[in-house]
Amino acid sequence: MTTFKAIRIDKADTGTRAAYADFDESELMEGDVTVAVSHSTVNYKDGLAITCKSPVVRRFPMIPGIDFAGTVEASSNPNYKPGDQVILNGWGLGETHLGGYAKKARVKGDWLVALPKGLSAAEAMAIGTAGYTAMLAVLALERHGLTRDRGPAIVTGAAGGVGSVAIALLSKLGWQVIASTGRAEEAPYLKELGAAEIIDRGELSGPGRPLGKERWAAGVDSVGSHTLANLLTQTKYGGAIAACGLAQGMDLPASVAPFILRGVSLLGIDSVMCPQVLRRQAWERLARDLDRDKLKRITRTIPFDRVIDTAGEILAGKIRGRVVVEIG
Ligand code: NDP
Repeated sequence: MTTFKAIRIDKADTGTRAAYADFDESELMEGDVTVAVSHSTVNYKDGLAITCKSPVVRRFPMIPGIDFAGTVEASSNPNYKPGDQVILNGWGLGETHLGGYAKKARVKGDWLVALPKGLSAAEAMAIGTAGYTAMLAVLALERHGLTRDRGPAIVTGAAGGVGSVAIALLSKLGWQVIASTGRAEEAPYLKELGAAEIIDRGELSGPGRPLGKERWAAGVDSVGSHTLANLLTQTKYGGAIAACGLAQGMDLPASVAPFILRGVSLLGIDSVMCPQVLRRQAWERLARDLDRDKLKRITRTIPFDRVIDTAGEILAGKIRGRVVVEIG
């Protein structure tokens, strides 16, 4: 029997339980590429999976971890050969397919993206699913035709993973960024990333009016609920908000007023099933447009054996920026 170290979630009488374990290689799922995982990350969804706070995991046993970077060990896929450096985000990793918190992963080669030139595996995971989602949001705003001269961009959940990378990207692209945070003490960090103005998230988190003063042309929202509704009511004529998260809630207590009276658009962002062509574009843009010094400031690195503790911290909103996990 050949085993490797992993976090394993099993179903128990009392619910589900995550623990470090020696995982039997024969239990790996089908796939045409085997990868030696070197790095993973802790995303909000990983927190939900490990703490079992939400039914993210839909197969047992499961190895959680929705993303990884590593080196191809074996491949029968014509696009990959041993030694290639690759990354993987989503496609059900850590939800329906054994995930990234393991020394080894077996996956479909069609899910992989080659590590972009100029990025190390650790940097790619510092970006991780949260950063790649922030890039997808910026790309969606650009596709909508929005440019920095139209007015400021607002980023909610600013001190979190998606928020931190969104601020760094938008400011590098010349946008004036308004950062909404519940952590006033993180104002210096958010300004270093490029935020021009900081607002308290309490301004946006309660029930609002159908229309408010026009304040921003664009937005990246990782919070949902009343916050997203209020973002829409304060978006300038013809502007758009890219919605990618639910840190406040999954509901959207909004009216149609911003859509039918101001031509505002709500752009949905999904990273999990996102087509490969858009993924590659996002990763290329991240390699080009994300300031590496800012990425360093956003990132904290932890050893593999700290992941389970960190999962609780991210759900409690205590993590600033991004967490890289050293696996290999
Ligand atoms: P983080 O935990 O790193 O960031 C979330 C941030 O949201 C927190 O740091 C906090 O920011 C803010 N926040 C937390 N709780 C509340 C609350 N009750 N009300 C208002 N704001 C709150 O998570 P990520 O950045 O990794 O992910 C953010 C969201 O995006 C999650 O919901 C996640 O599931 C989603 N997501 C979706 C993806 C997709 O494909 N659509 C992909 C990746 C993430 P602050 O302290 O600054 O206020």
